Amino acid sequence: MRKQGHANLSVCHIKDKMRNKQKIIIIGGGFSGVCAMRRIRQLKIFCDIILIDKKNNFEFLPLLPDIISSRIKEEYLSVNLAELAKKYDAEYFNKEVTNIDFNNNKVILKDLELRYDFLIIASGATNNFYGNKEAQRYALKLYSASDGALIRETIKEGNYDNFVIIGGGYTGIEIATNIWRHFKKTKKEKNIYIVERSNKLLSNLSDNLSRYVAENLNRLKIIVLYNAQVKSMGDGFVSFTDGFNLERALIVWAAGVKTADYIDILKQEKAPQGRLKVNEYLQISHNCFAVGDSANYEFKGRPLRMAIQFSIYEGICAAENIKNLMQNKPLKKFNPVDLGYIIPMANGRSCGFVFGREIFGVIPSMLHYFMCIYRSWGVRKQIGILSELIKNRIK
Ligand SMILES: Cc1cc2nc3c(=O)[nH]c(=O)nc-3n(C[C@H](O)[C@H](O)[C@H](O)COP(=O)(O)OP(=O)(O)OC[C@H]3O[C@@H](n4cnc5c(N)ncnc54)[C@H](O)[C@@H]3O)c2cc1C
Repeated sequence: MRKQGHANLSVCHIKDKMRNKQKIIIIGGGFSGVCAMRRIRQLKIFCDIILIDKKNNFEFLPLLPDIISSRIKEEYLSVNLAELAKKYDAEYFNKEVTNIDFNNNKVILKDLELRYDFLIIASGATNNFYGNKEAQRYALKLYSASDGALIRETIKEGNYDNFVIIGGGYTGIEIATNIWRHFKKTKKEKNIYIVERSNKLLSNLSDNLSRYVAENLNRLKIIVLYNAQVKSMGDGFVSFTDGFNLERALIVWAAGVKTADYIDILKQEKAPQGRLKVNEYLQISHNCFAVGDSANYEFKGRPLRMAIQFSIYEGICAAENIKNLMQNKPLKKFNPVDLGYIIPMANGRSCGFVFGREIFGVIPSMLHYFMCIYRSWGVRKQIGILSELIKNRIK
């Protein structure tokens, strides 16, 4: 029996070789990469898939701020990538990509080179420290479940009077309101600051939305330092260019994002934040696609913002276009549907722009969590998140 099994295997192997089994490499096991992997298998594309990620887990980023106020436990936001890869019959490498050799169709890892026929770059984004060594050393950041847990534990264990969030974008606001929520539960009064370089929060949003956010932060006594620039920072202190200083301060950096480091050295054309410019089919070259936060897709004259809805459908579209290329069929244009966005704030008063309408209050908070449950990976995680939300209340 055993012998026969081996014989069958080698026949399959030879058949595969004769049918020219293609190799698809996916860099990044976030939303776009995992959705591409799943779609490839749904389409029954005859290929080997290699998934590469430097992390062990797929992580659900939109709920990371909720780890800080203990609304959600980090275990519900992570899914083991080796198991996911196995489910979709993919080979998984838990390694960091350091370069891509486009001329020879090779992905370069620290100690290995892997050849591909088709490549999907789905390595997302990460914090941009703009080369600020002090920030890298002394500030915390939020781009993984373990970052969220570190902020939570540092707040619990440390003896800080001031909490300084550098960057007044979506993430900075979510971090600040979750720190507020933590201290509301523990009934302690602390100073929470958001440091904003310009004179307005979320300047790309409508006046109504950014005013609502500013008023809500004001109600929570979160202080926004407008037109503020950090001069230097150290262990527990931060000083500003106008002479203002804060001591016994926990600093969290949320001042910007960029694509993965290896993308910096690629010669391909890039947009701000290092995102790879893609054409209407999401290609950066004939056999190479970029999707999700790594990609810059121009829609109606503007780059699509970094969001889950676009990452998922870009991953799916890239998979379908690989199949089209293999079958010499015309490629499909990526046609995004923008459902809108929400700025979640942890006191339950959120706001957003959904289906073309501005919405305010508890409804956008509920929608945000509904979207998070719906988009999270696997029924077990969905039930886990829902039960955490019921236990810890959305409001
Ligand atoms: C705090 C926070 C809150 C957010 N809230 C929302 C929200 O409410 N709604 C919304 O729509 N979007 C939100 N986003 C954005 C959303 O999470 C991203 O748009 C989405 O996750 C992008 O998916 P992706 O697959 O492109 O990248 P990611 O999900 O970032 O995955 C990229 C993967 O690539 C891996 N990788 C990176 N570099 C390498 C390398 N060199 N080698 C190997 N692997 C590598 C990473 O480890 C990671 O697993 C939020 C993001 C953050 C950080």
